[in-house]
Amino acid sequence: MTNPPTELASIDVKNPADGTVVGTIANHSSKQVAQMAANLRAAQGEWESIGPRGRADWLFKFQEWIYDNTNKIADVLQSETGKPRAEALTEPAVVTDLIGYWARQAEGFLTDGHPVQLGPMTIGKRLTTIYRPYPLVGVITPWNFPFTMPGIDVIPALAAGAAVLLKPSEVTPLSAAEFVRGWTEIGAPPVLGLATGDGKAGSAVIDCADYVQFTGSTATGRKVAVRCGERLIPYSLELGGKDPALVLSDADIERAANGVMWGGLFNAGQVCVSIERVYVEAPVYDEFLAKLTAKVKALRQGQDGRECKHDVGALATDAQRDIVQRHVRESVAAGARAVTGGKPASPGTFFEPTVLVDVDQTMTCITDETFGPTLPIIKVADEAEAIRLANDSIYGLSATVWSSNGERAERVARQLEVGAVNINDVMVNIFAYSLPMGGWKQSGIGARSGGAEGVRKYCRRQAITAPRIPTLSKEMLWYPVSQGTIDFAQTLLRAFAARGRRRVSLPKWLEW
Ligand code: NAD
Repeated sequence: MTNPPTELASIDVKNPADGTVVGTIANHSSKQVAQMAANLRAAQGEWESIGPRGRADWLFKFQEWIYDNTNKIADVLQSETGKPRAEALTEPAVVTDLIGYWARQAEGFLTDGHPVQLGPMTIGKRLTTIYRPYPLVGVITPWNFPFTMPGIDVIPALAAGAAVLLKPSEVTPLSAAEFVRGWTEIGAPPVLGLATGDGKAGSAVIDCADYVQFTGSTATGRKVAVRCGERLIPYSLELGGKDPALVLSDADIERAANGVMWGGLFNAGQVCVSIERVYVEAPVYDEFLAKLTAKVKALRQGQDGRECKHDVGALATDAQRDIVQRHVRESVAAGARAVTGGKPASPGTFFEPTVLVDVDQTMTCITDETFGPTLPIIKVADEAEAIRLANDSIYGLSATVWSSNGERAERVARQLEVGAVNINDVMVNIFAYSLPMGGWKQSGIGARSGGAEGVRKYCRRQAITAPRIPTLSKEMLWYPVSQGTIDFAQTLLRAFAARGRRRVSLPKWLEW
């Protein structure tokens, strides 16, 4: 008889750029996670009661802490991801930016609503919508942006008045630990907890949360949805992508080449909204490819210290490097050609920035999410073919369109089956917190951000009706029933609801 595998009590965290162990974290058990959840719930009521302004004060204190600790946070980010310094520094910067937005806006977004509805049933009523937070929100994050990802979801949930239990990826938990350390160090109410560990710890978070915000792969997202469904709790999923770039014949080719390069290779291509497929209209294909290839060849790849010396860093894990290598190998075996890059670079988990040509729509580099520094380029005859191929994917996260004709670009954008389109730019929608960020098809369910919706999603809506005029001893439809009042009520309802007078049949005693 074989023994069941023993569960790890702790997990080592490695720097993928050089393989050194940079930290160790607990692999929390379900029992430990449940205890954390109970503590957070106990503190949530007071957090809710201090209101959006009281919470904004704490969020701004946290923002100050991030400003003061930016270099330390970037050090930790580099140590567990192998990112270049420049990319590590963007993460705390983004979080301070979004804190400013949610801390300033939450009060307005959470103000009671008083919708107006003219109708015989509601005319004498004051209608109110109020927003009350889910007591405990579980936030489960992936490894590609270990400080930004917690920020994007934890901050609006805290601003809403919820307590949050954060479960970062076991690959990169140290930056999330810094995030929670900061919250504790400023002396904020104990409404932010950190559960670390593998998928089981993530599952345990779902088992005790009232709402789950998940970011990660489509495969895990499906399991999260099943578990949330079993518990009948709401959730939002931000999943994988295979974003297309459409370079049209009237594009500014210099800008398009720069934008596609950055959009495809930023964070070594490990961004949910990385450009992973490029469709170029035939008249500008040669010029675009020549420019892009020359630019990609000139990129500097390697491990940074505190100085910003390199453009492209390592991949997060050996497994991720192997996926990228497999996609390139399979595509080359099917006829593709790497005009630059195409292989891993050691030591560490580096993979050369790669441009692939002679690619067709059936190759792995086009059908599967690569999450690496590869740019497969396909020549298309016209705009219609670009749109058709761009939409031919199980994913629908976002897309970019490159054209100097604004009307044309927007016409194309409106035909793409994706949650967001950036025209002549990349990723900018992510920093537009007033816009919804949510994938279509297998890229997600629900959305993060989106102005008021970004905070209200962490709230239960409560509807309250109250009389606004003196009440009678009974309403028209209350017992006992009578033909006269039913006829009158029906006429009144029809008079308000129908289009014109055609559907209003007057009771006999009102006919003329
Ligand atoms: P992953 O799905 O493997 O893991 C994500 C998180 O889920 C980790 O914290 C993991 O421990 C946890 N987890 C694993 N099994 C679980 C379970 N059964 N229940 C609950 N939690 C569980 O993803 P990853 O490899 O860390 O990240 C890469 C993926 O994330 C890519 O597919 C990428 O496209 C996606 N991603 C999407 C977005 C977006 O906004 N759409 C952003 C970043 C990354």
